[in-house]
Amino acid sequence: MRSFEDNYRQKGLRRKLIEHLKEKGIKSHAVLDAMLKIPRHLFLDKAFEEWAYKDFAFPIDCDQTISQPFTVARQSELMDIRPKDKVLEIGLGSGYQACVLHNLEAKVYSIERHKTLHDKTSHRLKGLGYSSIRTFYGDGFQGLPLLAPFDKILITAACDEIPEILISQLKEDGFIIFPYGKTNDSQIMTKITKLKNGVLKTEEFGLFRFVPMLKGKV
Ligand code: SAH
Repeated sequence: MRSFEDNYRQKGLRRKLIEHLKEKGIKSHAVLDAMLKIPRHLFLDKAFEEWAYKDFAFPIDCDQTISQPFTVARQSELMDIRPKDKVLEIGLGSGYQACVLHNLEAKVYSIERHKTLHDKTSHRLKGLGYSSIRTFYGDGFQGLPLLAPFDKILITAACDEIPEILISQLKEDGFIIFPYGKTNDSQIMTKITKLKNGVLKTEEFGLFRFVPMLKGKV
């Protein structure tokens, strides 16, 4: 684990990125503040640090990506976090999105299906002082039955089916946000809220592109 370096240059680049996210339509001050505080360059390998404050997705280990900053901001805004919300993330990846949710004062649980990525990111989060984010190695399609129910669930990989098991792990009035669709196309950011008597309400929030949500663990 490298030391926690966050110099003036990186802080300046981060401020510019936040301005860019505002221009692209991100309105939540809480989300913009959280992203201003978190040193995103520490979530990429050192050789690629200069890419950290551009609004791009970027490759990480195991052929996966750290989501584009705009996508993280939009998903975080849609999560509408209230302090102490119990939130399940599917797709820990680099851990950056989990940290944004944590900084918004959610109690975060996150699952990753790649052992290498799970272990490396768990170690990174501890090193950065984020040890209260609870990470799990497993298949996100199964959720975390022993820790359910959750207030909110966020999937950060493209899911081409309605995630029934995850919906069953939501509290009443809880919701799940997920990019719905096949991976070779773009996906529709979808919100399903679990109303009284199991009635589901569906809303859509535009097109995004994600790596696939795959079954099983590796
Ligand atoms: N939230 C991450 C984005 C990572 S990309 C970040 O901020 O960096 C999506 C991640 O979902 C990848 O790491 C991928 O391995 C993981 N993933 C895909 N299918 C999964 C599944 N069924 N269960 C858990 N994780 C999964």
